[in-house]
Amino acid sequence: MSDEYQLDTLAVRAGSQRSQFHEHSEALFLTSSFVFDSAEQAAKRFSGEEPGNIYARFTNPTVTMFEERLAALEGAQACVATASGMSAILACTMGLLSAGDHIVASRAIFGATVQLFSNILKRFGVEVSFVSPTDVAEWERAVRPNTKLFFAETPSNPLTEVCDIAALADIAHRHGAWLAVDNCFCTPILQRPLKLGADLVIHSATKYLDGQGRVLGGAVLGSKALLDGVYTFLRTAGPTLSAFNAWVFLKGLETLRLRMEAHSANALALAQWLEAQPKVVRVLYPGLPSHPQHALAMRQQKTGGGIVSFEVKGGKEAAWRVIDSTRLLSITANLGDTKTTITHPATTTHGRLTPEQRAAAGINDGLIRIAVGLEAVEDIQADLARGLAL
Ligand SMILES: *Cc1c(COP(=O)(O)O)cnc(C)c1O
Repeated sequence: MSDEYQLDTLAVRAGSQRSQFHEHSEALFLTSSFVFDSAEQAAKRFSGEEPGNIYARFTNPTVTMFEERLAALEGAQACVATASGMSAILACTMGLLSAGDHIVASRAIFGATVQLFSNILKRFGVEVSFVSPTDVAEWERAVRPNTKLFFAETPSNPLTEVCDIAALADIAHRHGAWLAVDNCFCTPILQRPLKLGADLVIHSATKYLDGQGRVLGGAVLGSKALLDGVYTFLRTAGPTLSAFNAWVFLKGLETLRLRMEAHSANALALAQWLEAQPKVVRVLYPGLPSHPQHALAMRQQKTGGGIVSFEVKGGKEAAWRVIDSTRLLSITANLGDTKTTITHPATTTHGRLTPEQRAAAGINDGLIRIAVGLEAVEDIQADLARGLAL
């Protein structure tokens, strides 16, 4: 379906499969196994000689519909859905890497991804080097003969640093490695990493794909050949997406473009307003001309996205005052929700780092991250203005 229709149509229609009941909305198949017509058919299904559903650890029609719809949006040949964003990253690395392999990863990736790479995969003999998200030459210098995977996340959390996907793909391919991009912040509506040369796309569907903060899920996308290894891992180890969650994401994808454009418009308006506030030292948003990689971001992404970070004068006390003065915004670590969320990275998402590590990462005590929701932007501004006036 991908070549024939535009993105909006794919978001609503791709992957739909009707049962014999001719339902209009996609059906939710809550069944752990599937019945065969005969012993012979069961044998053929298990051997792979005949396609079809077997057991919901690795086949479920609702999950398949979600995989096909997301694959159509990312322009990917194949998709494997997983129980969470973290299990997508686990399935990707366990499915494609072996002991002795080396990963070059951006330093500015999701905290749990850093822990997975540097603590857990390390115990299984996979090595990792962390490099600057924005200094392309550093990635090339980190390459070793055993480098198999480049791992980037763009824009990064919470500083919204932008990785040059095409440039990283180029370096990775010259050294016989794959580039995986965590596309959580942009979604395929704003950024399509495979079109820019990436080999794999990772999603935490928990965020914008759901869009209303309800369920966890994830996905790995790429070529059929690469996804074979990921699927084999999922089929065997079982970090499987539940059918219910897949159904929630299917519905979420139908409104994804409308939501991403509304999140982006609100985020830009909020970022511009924050830049004019005397208590605000700096605003980090790729859609602002003052962002260090604004030009690259506007080439690579359709908008600046929905995440805005800013630094207030007065360090932690001032930042906490702004957060605690809000009445509307939710003090929570989630993002990609219709409800605006506000976070103090230094004491929450990045609280496990030492003060030196935080300083090196550019996350200082005055920093606040806002995942801009779909409320009226004037109400979000008024909610922040209260704490900024103190
Ligand atoms: C949340 C998040 C993840 C992890 O996803 P879960 O669904 O929480 O496991 C990975 N990458 C990014 C960028 C995220 O924001």
